[in-house]
Amino acid sequence: MASFCYVFFSEPNLSYDYSLSYLYLTFISSLLMSFIITISTNLSLIERGYQSMEKKKLYFLLLLIVLIFLALSFIKVNDIKFLETVDKIAFAAQINKKEQGLIESNFIEEKNLKGKTIVIDPGHGGKDVGAIGQSGTFEKDVTLTLAKNLQRGLEKKTGATVILTRDKDVTMSLKDRVDLAKTMNANLFISIHFDAFTSNEVNGITTYYNKEADRSLAALIHRHLFKQDMGTRDRGVGFGDYFVLRENTKPSILLELGYISNAEVEKRINSQTYQTQASTAIVEGVIEYLSN
Ligand SMILES: [Zn+2]
Repeated sequence: MASFCYVFFSEPNLSYDYSLSYLYLTFISSLLMSFIITISTNLSLIERGYQSMEKKKLYFLLLLIVLIFLALSFIKVNDIKFLETVDKIAFAAQINKKEQGLIESNFIEEKNLKGKTIVIDPGHGGKDVGAIGQSGTFEKDVTLTLAKNLQRGLEKKTGATVILTRDKDVTMSLKDRVDLAKTMNANLFISIHFDAFTSNEVNGITTYYNKEADRSLAALIHRHLFKQDMGTRDRGVGFGDYFVLRENTKPSILLELGYISNAEVEKRINSQTYQTQASTAIVEGVIEYLSN
């Protein structure tokens, strides 16, 4: 109901009753208007001696209007259901807004992180396609899409310098990725991946760290991910012996943002909603980490 009020009144704190009575007023006033217009039109026609409009027809029209009134009072009994439908439509409109990334920009509080450097590493690329989904999605493509979303979000909300290890579909060694973080003197390195498993049923998100010092960073970002309704299993934070973490001299984590091998997940990962939710969560996490 809050979303209903939000969409129609732009004031989420307006009460349910208020929106209900508002609807009634609209219904009844529009009905009264049509009632008056019909009668006055018919009466004037009869006065002007129109033979085609007999009194019987007028009575029939009046009866019809009474029936409409009765039907509407039935709606009044079922108004809760009716409003629930309206609410669902409003909710769908919000989802649609989310698709366009509008909600994202409204909900993250801006924080000036000018002077900080963040390196985002979209996993795989070029000849290395990474995991492959059942519908043919390549991990290297979705990691790049998310990395670009993340870069836009971080630059817009923090003013920090955000560097991608690759911004197109090219092959890149793990060493080059780690070296870039060192060369740029990054404050943070985040590697983006999507898992695959022999079983197509497996699902969930895992955040990895390698050095004990980065465990709390991993936990923080992971917590932000699950503040969003990611609609997936929380596989927790874990130690990962990955090259990009092990050889990194900068604070670094690696995100496995869902199993591309799961057909349902593959479909969702490709959606704008998922991309927005994941990047929103990571932006919020980065802001919290780099503000302290
Ligand atoms: Zn990967």
